[in-house]
Amino acid sequence: MDKYGIIGFPLSHSFSPHIHNLAFNNLSINANYEILSIKPNVFESEIKKLKKSDYRGFNITIPYKQKIIPFIDEIDPLAKKVNAVNTILKKDNKWFGYNTDIYGFLKPLEKSITSIKSVLVIGAGGAASAVCFSLLRYRNISLLSILNRSVEKAQRLAYQLKKEYDLNINAGSLEVGSDLIFDLIINTTNVGMGNLIDINPFNISNNSHKKTVVYDLIYNPECTQFLKLAHHNGLKTINGLEMLIGQAMKSFSIWTNREFPPNLLKNENFYKKE
Ligand code: NAP
Repeated sequence: MDKYGIIGFPLSHSFSPHIHNLAFNNLSINANYEILSIKPNVFESEIKKLKKSDYRGFNITIPYKQKIIPFIDEIDPLAKKVNAVNTILKKDNKWFGYNTDIYGFLKPLEKSITSIKSVLVIGAGGAASAVCFSLLRYRNISLLSILNRSVEKAQRLAYQLKKEYDLNINAGSLEVGSDLIFDLIINTTNVGMGNLIDINPFNISNNSHKKTVVYDLIYNPECTQFLKLAHHNGLKTINGLEMLIGQAMKSFSIWTNREFPPNLLKNENFYKKE
């Protein structure tokens, strides 16, 4: 049996084992996908053990999408640019690293993306980087602001983006906020899930207009405090489920060379399982 797994910490919120095991079953692939919860203090030693193991592939999630990079033998150019890896394929005893969050993130925006001109990104970690690099490929976007708890991380991400894209990109502190109004506001932090479930990372009220779209990459819980405020303000909201499914479909194809069964998750109610 082929073995796959998700590496992260904490991992109690993950829907990934359910998604991938359903697809393996559906396509009669003899494989299993499991949770590999690794505490930060043993990260290096556990990864070294996994490198010697017979696992065929992994997903990488918080807080390790950047920390995993030194252990990758060959990194896909886009993942290198984003500086975050969420998918590993083991082939010829080597680890190949990819970023499939880039594809997943855009899925729920496909219809509206061309009307978006200004974006506010909350957070500056691995997911934020994937979000920014995928958004800036769209020429209609002329303003991007990044606000983060640690300002220097936001500045570093803005600097990387400016090397590639000649437009108005600025970075600042989450605490100070912004005076600008945005068409799209995205939470890429993990504030709103796990032990931070009751916290809203950012008050969108001063930075939105009537048609602002508010997107939270968190998918569990279904409606975070961030999205609740957006609902309250009558704004369109998107949670992270469609992105999760989009990135999973792409990872699945990288591992198996097969297309993820397109309608498999159509009637799946993830939130009923809680
Ligand atoms: P990461 O690289 O560890 O980055 C975490 C970000 O959250 C950083 O900007 C960090 O700020 C910020 N943060 C953490 N705790 C905070 C707090 N108490 N107050 C304010 N900011 C805080 O993680 P990641 O890989 O980018 O993932 C971030 C989130 O995106 C997670 O919730 C993850 O589940 C979600 N995500 C969802 C999908 C999906 O498919 N739906 C895909 C990818 C990621 P500092 O820099 O100041 O530490």
